[in-house]
Amino acid sequence: MPDAIERQAPLYDILSLMIQHLLLDLDNTLYPASGRMDEGITRRMIDFVAQHLAVSPEEATRLRIKRLPVYSTTLEWLKVEHGLRDEEAYFHAVHPESEVEELQKDDQLRPYLQSLDLPMTLLTNSPVFHAERLLEFFNISDLFLGVFDITWHKGQGKPHPDAFRNTLEAVGYTVDQTLFVDDHLKYVRGYRAIGGQAALVDENGEHRAIASAEGYWYMQNIYGLKDLLTADGASRHQKNT
Ligand SMILES: [Mg+2]
Repeated sequence: MPDAIERQAPLYDILSLMIQHLLLDLDNTLYPASGRMDEGITRRMIDFVAQHLAVSPEEATRLRIKRLPVYSTTLEWLKVEHGLRDEEAYFHAVHPESEVEELQKDDQLRPYLQSLDLPMTLLTNSPVFHAERLLEFFNISDLFLGVFDITWHKGQGKPHPDAFRNTLEAVGYTVDQTLFVDDHLKYVRGYRAIGGQAALVDENGEHRAIASAEGYWYMQNIYGLKDLLTADGASRHQKNT
């Protein structure tokens, strides 16, 4: 009864066979959200919003929390609802050169990513100069087939379906062949919505129950990836274990 066996076979038994390519997020995925960078980026976004809307940082925070679920990024929200035109001003305010001081060195990251032995592509909703700066900091610039940033997607980044599809088309892989890894539920949901396998990086276990209910793979940090890509390990990262 091959059909019955197939239906019963857990997804994790076939994941490692299916996956031929990794589509990786950058911020809070390749380095921990608990570092100073995440806090710094958020603070600078709030400051920019407050200045642009001429409101207090508290009001900017409240408005951003309210409206962000509707948009892929803070930038998209400001452009659509608040007439922001100067994208570069936003990027440079949020990502000043000094941002690298908020990062912690991780000498294990390069050998670890190499040891996964899969082609990988970077997909970020940040601007390319931020991505390149961080990749250089971690000495992993040469490990990716390409770096696809928010500008490449003309402001329509993750979770817009075309952000995923156009990126994959550009590097010659399909959704079926690609595991997407990101720390944002919204983006993981977006990739699942187009039929892809996705893994949520969730440092504090905040979204574990949701991952379980909605069927994403789950890991505390990027160092769970190798384990996930093996059949035995995947069972430990699966939604219902
Ligand atoms: Mg991220």
